Amino acid sequence: MIKVNNRKEQTNYLKNLKCECGGNFLELEKFHNYIDGGHSDLYKLFCDECNTRKELVFDIDSYFTKEFLETFNKFYKKKYDPRHKFI
Ligand SMILES: [Zn+2]
Repeated sequence: MIKVNNRKEQTNYLKNLKCECGGNFLELEKFHNYIDGGHSDLYKLFCDECNTRKELVFDIDSYFTKEFLETFNKFYKKKYDPRHKFI
């Protein structure tokens, strides 16, 4: 499990990941998991050169809840903004 502190770190990790053959890994599938109170992302990747499959798990608990709440609050504020109440 790879621990990351924010989404950018996670994206960069995937971007810089190289296959043994020198190819790049591309995303095949992505799953979000919530196990034992911890959030994680499972990526199923494949190499764009030799088609090698790889699975990676990111521990995203440090930022997921924070990011989720920020998104939720943004949405909530927009929806219930008092200025729009009577429109
Ligand atoms: Zn490869």
